[in-house]
Amino acid sequence: MTIRFENGIVATLGQENRVLWNGSVVSDGEHIAAVGDAAEMRERFPAAEAVDCAGKIVLPGFLCAHHHFYSTMARGMAPPGEPASNFVEILERLWWKLDKALSDEDITVSAQIPLIECIRNGTTTIIDHHASPSMRAGSLDLIENAVRQAGLRASLCYEVSDRNEPGGGIAENERFIKKVGKGDGQIAAMMGLHASFTVSDETAEKCVGIARDAGVGCHIHVAEDAADREDAIAKYSMPTVKRLDKLGLTGEQSIFVHCVHIDDSEMDILAATKTSVVHNPESNMNNAVGVTKLLELLRKGVLVGLGSDGMSSDMLAQMRCAYLLHRLDNRDPRVAFVEAPQLLLRNNADICERQFGLRLGEIAQGRPADLAIIDYRPPTPLSEANFLGHLIFGLVDATVDTTVCKGKILMKGKKVLSLDEERIAARSRELAPRMWKRL
Ligand SMILES: [Zn+2]
Repeated sequence: MTIRFENGIVATLGQENRVLWNGSVVSDGEHIAAVGDAAEMRERFPAAEAVDCAGKIVLPGFLCAHHHFYSTMARGMAPPGEPASNFVEILERLWWKLDKALSDEDITVSAQIPLIECIRNGTTTIIDHHASPSMRAGSLDLIENAVRQAGLRASLCYEVSDRNEPGGGIAENERFIKKVGKGDGQIAAMMGLHASFTVSDETAEKCVGIARDAGVGCHIHVAEDAADREDAIAKYSMPTVKRLDKLGLTGEQSIFVHCVHIDDSEMDILAATKTSVVHNPESNMNNAVGVTKLLELLRKGVLVGLGSDGMSSDMLAQMRCAYLLHRLDNRDPRVAFVEAPQLLLRNNADICERQFGLRLGEIAQGRPADLAIIDYRPPTPLSEANFLGHLIFGLVDATVDTTVCKGKILMKGKKVLSLDEERIAARSRELAPRMWKRL
């Protein structure tokens, strides 16, 4: 099926990084066949179905480098007991109770809700991190099914930790990694681990062995809170990144999430091993854990991407949060204007390329047809030269109208087509209170 997405402003991003007024993106099946002037494309592809994008801007679909679909039903929940006063208490009183209470249907619905929100926000690719200790076996299949039904792309893993029993979750990762193999461009697999402070050397070594044999990376939270660093120093006489590097978790395929409490020598390890870091500014602020030294990491050449950590599926909001946070943190209004969009637009594409073997995040001939088409009538001139200003101060608050992934229209005119939004939300409202009672 060939479709012309025409008459809008096209911002290609990627290497060419062009802004075309009255442009057209032509998809043919799962890929982009051509990009150019709308009239010219009508001539070249007269038989294609036309989707009018007048009054809109056509961007590549957004990529989220760290998400937790399973966190959905925490919304509006009152965790039992006293409010958590620190990060470890947040885990113990909220997340480690919630994940244990998830049933198989909860897992499916908990994935469908954020997948709908991804479609609503033009987020077409997600790297997720899942936990459901009472329902481990097959849990990643349930999420895979939800992702395929939604029509999006996702890299999935199960978070291994010793908190319930030694090596809990290894078998589910191993099974899923074997099943998915190198992936089909829509679903990919990683070896998931919770964090340094919840895995023993033995557990971590087992995970690394499986990941190495399969040629996949490890996806793990690293030094999110000072407690993770203190634990590694107390138990192993070295800080977190150093410990994980010694155990073999670092590498080009691996994703170290957060890296808030790391020192200079640990940053050097991340750079030397080409390990990706994913920054989640909203989540770090929500958990009050501290501020990642983003500018230093980038200066050292570490590949830093952007995630939502389950806070939302709106990647432009995460980008602007990063922009604001690092300007304030550095007390310097000259920084983060380039860096915050770079995390989302370029670095997430690099990270996803390592997971999916596809160049996402750009509109160019031959690239996957993944698009976010957003209502936007620029109030000032818009070109390649000032695109970032429009992104940070305009597009971030604009509404996504149409979302396309693998050449399929998943939302059009703000109506989600691939999933029944009303039915799924209603079912989630039935399931959530039952799950809360099991906490
Ligand atoms: Zn996380």
